[in-house]
Amino acid sequence: MADHHERTMTAPDLPTEFSEIEMRCPPCNTTWSAPVARRVNVRTHPDARLGILLKTMHWTRCPLCKQPRQIETIFEYYDPDQRLLVQVRPEWEYHAGGGEEWYWARYEDLVLKYQDVDVRVDVVFGFDQLIEKYLGGQAAVQEARERWEARRRRGEGL
Ligand SMILES: [Zn+2]
Repeated sequence: MADHHERTMTAPDLPTEFSEIEMRCPPCNTTWSAPVARRVNVRTHPDARLGILLKTMHWTRCPLCKQPRQIETIFEYYDPDQRLLVQVRPEWEYHAGGGEEWYWARYEDLVLKYQDVDVRVDVVFGFDQLIEKYLGGQAAVQEARERWEARRRRGEGL
C-alpha cells in the first residue's frame, strides 16, 4: 500500500483554474469577457490570497467607458498546506437564499463534491467572511496592504 501512504503524506493536487465570464456594462451596454478564477490554489498562486485581502480580485473594467465593475462569481479557495478548501459565494446570497439553511445546503453539496478528496471544506459568503474565518482577519489585511505598498514602491504590480 505504498500508494496509500503517499496519498496521506501529500496534499491533494487541486490546481488553480480560470474561466471567462460575459460582462455587460449597464450604462453603455458594452459587452466583453473577463477572466475569472474558478479555483485558486494559494501555494501555486500566492497572489490570489493578497488579491482577496486587498479585495482587488474579481474586478474588471468596461473597455469603453472604463467604469470598474465587480465580477460576482462563485470560486474555491484552496490552501494545500492546511488541506482547506473554501467555496466563496456572493455575500448577498446568504440573505437572499434563506440564511443558515442555505449555508448548510451549500455546505452539504460541497462535502459531497469533495467526499473522495482528503480536504476539509467550508462555505463562506463574501470576502470578509473568508478573511475573518480563515485568512487572519484585519491583521492580515493590514499586512497585505503594507506588502502591496512596498511592492508598489518597487514598481511591481499585483
Ligand atoms: Zn461601459
